[in-house]
Amino acid sequence: MLENNTLEWIDIHCHLDRLEGGPAHALKLAQDAGVKNLITIGTEPDDLPLVLELAEKFAPHVYCTIGIHPHEGVKYTAEVGKFLRANASNPRVVAIGEIGLDYHYNQSPKEEQIFAFREQLQIAADVGLPVEIHTRDAEADTVKILNEFKGRVTGLIHCFTGTEWLAKEALALGFNISISGVVTFKNAEDLRQIVKNIIPIDRLHVETDAPFLAPVPMRGRPNTSAYVVHTAQFVADLKNVSLQTLSEQTKKNAQALFKKLTL
Ligand SMILES: [Zn+2]
Ligand SMILES: [Zn+2]
Repeated sequence: MLENNTLEWIDIHCHLDRLEGGPAHALKLAQDAGVKNLITIGTEPDDLPLVLELAEKFAPHVYCTIGIHPHEGVKYTAEVGKFLRANASNPRVVAIGEIGLDYHYNQSPKEEQIFAFREQLQIAADVGLPVEIHTRDAEADTVKILNEFKGRVTGLIHCFTGTEWLAKEALALGFNISISGVVTFKNAEDLRQIVKNIIPIDRLHVETDAPFLAPVPMRGRPNTSAYVVHTAQFVADLKNVSLQTLSEQTKKNAQALFKKLTL
């Protein structure tokens, strides 16, 4: 049971352009549930103008990131790099992302994923924005490449589903860790142990990654930002803190990492 639905949340990772009922409807649902602010995530050249438009249209409650997802690594070009640099100073753009490596699906060849990842980390370093990292079945290369940018780039690992090793490496690199509805799934015992024992509460975020990965008890439906409260309740229980404490702490964490937010 939710203790209190008047608490404020920020969904630090969703795809508002793809949510059921359209962006205005999804944002209303979110705000009714206390999810006052959200960050909508860019993934490929075609959706970057769209996330920018949504963040402008629904300011001040919607922010965005711009970047090329590892699935779309083949679409990373010098032209895209220029676009990222040109738009990094937009007050609605709070991070470069989602970027990273996904060897689970290998929708883009490894070499192209790695190239796009490095290029975008360099851009993040140059423009002084944090990054939202997507990594799946690619822990060794992710850590190796993040180490190349050690001290120059900060950010978070989004929708963390990795090993304890990755969690510790990411934290040591100064990265935060964001937890999605996956933590509520039956088979996610390892992840629950990591949340409980490894991730300090001041380095933790919650997110939906909507429209994907709806948390229990909404599992099976299309996910939407409003549901971040279910993941939050679950994480609060794991950390043995009140929902209010988690709400205040995650807001603080988001503000500290994404400097352009005004929460
Ligand atoms: Zn992702
Ligand atoms: Zn995503």
